Amino acid sequence: MTAEKIRCLIIGSGPAGYTAAIYASRANLSPVLYEGIQPGGQLTTTTDIENFPGYPNGISGTEMMEELKQQALKFGTDVRRGIATAADLSKSPYKIIIDGKTEIETETLIIATGATAKYLGLPDETRYAGQGVSACATCDGFFYRKKTVAVVGGGDTACEEAIYLAGLASKVYLIVRKDHLRASQIMQDRVINHPKIEILFKHNTIGLSGENGVEEAHLVKNAGEPGEENVDIAIDGFFLAIGHKPNSDVFKDYLELDEHGYIKVQPGTPKTNIPGVFAAGDVADPVYRQAITSAGSGCMAAIESEKYLNC
Ligand code: NDP
Repeated sequence: MTAEKIRCLIIGSGPAGYTAAIYASRANLSPVLYEGIQPGGQLTTTTDIENFPGYPNGISGTEMMEELKQQALKFGTDVRRGIATAADLSKSPYKIIIDGKTEIETETLIIATGATAKYLGLPDETRYAGQGVSACATCDGFFYRKKTVAVVGGGDTACEEAIYLAGLASKVYLIVRKDHLRASQIMQDRVINHPKIEILFKHNTIGLSGENGVEEAHLVKNAGEPGEENVDIAIDGFFLAIGHKPNSDVFKDYLELDEHGYIKVQPGTPKTNIPGVFAAGDVADPVYRQAITSAGSGCMAAIESEKYLNC
């Protein structure tokens, strides 16, 4: 296999990847960006983004990502479809294999691979995949107009998905394992006050059933406590919104990761333990995980790449 030799490779096409691409292009690093598992990143599966500075009326995730892509293309980024399937970061230039067949040799690498939705780990989630189980309300909500659905989780994503689904479905259960929501206050208020959303606090899902796709979720209320009881709810769709796993597996033999798989960076920088290899966005951020912070770290990664190349 003959390797293509480049100066700056960016993997991932969320706000971190595209911001890195905009800065790296403008710095004449001729970056190549591979879009990764989910072109446009997680924001393409969200509804309106209301908290990105500069959009007082909000903007849809898909629209924002398309605009970021166009901005990166305008400055000359080579945007390609493809997923990093293997890496050799043992020495510079670093080798990355795309889709198991294309080898890229790069002087700097910006990893902006983001994170992927988590599932509960129930066999029924696999059994009913595509038949009522989903981790993306904006992708699949359309199929549940005037139906009853459940969303699992108590964070901002779960609240956002519940509100989105409540705009389509006739009823939404929000299944929360604790006695409180983790989401921001504004999202909590919206969910609590929504007439179509019923929150089931201290409920855990143990299974799903149905002849033709999901028809029931089997829950346990107050598990392991006095008053523990089984609760079954009739539903047509079951949506997971319980957080994400960082997409760092390909690099785990070379980069320092934390116990959840997030790439460790030097505090306040996108620098990993390998010179010239930077991590930006959700793959390295277990704390903030916002579009704006991802974009900021993508910018920092591009600036650090430029500095590294000019040393
Ligand atoms: P979070 O990690 O914030 O929340 C995950 C939720 O899922 C928690 O309520 C957690 O429960 C629950 N959970 C985790 N595992 C299980 C399980 N096995 N069974 C049942 N429940 C489970 O993830 P989010 O995706 O909601 O948010 C990630 C980040 O993105 C956050 O910082 C959030 O603020 C941000 N975000 C911002 C948005 C916006 O501003 N518009 C929109 C969406 C996300 P527990 O609380 O018990 O741990």
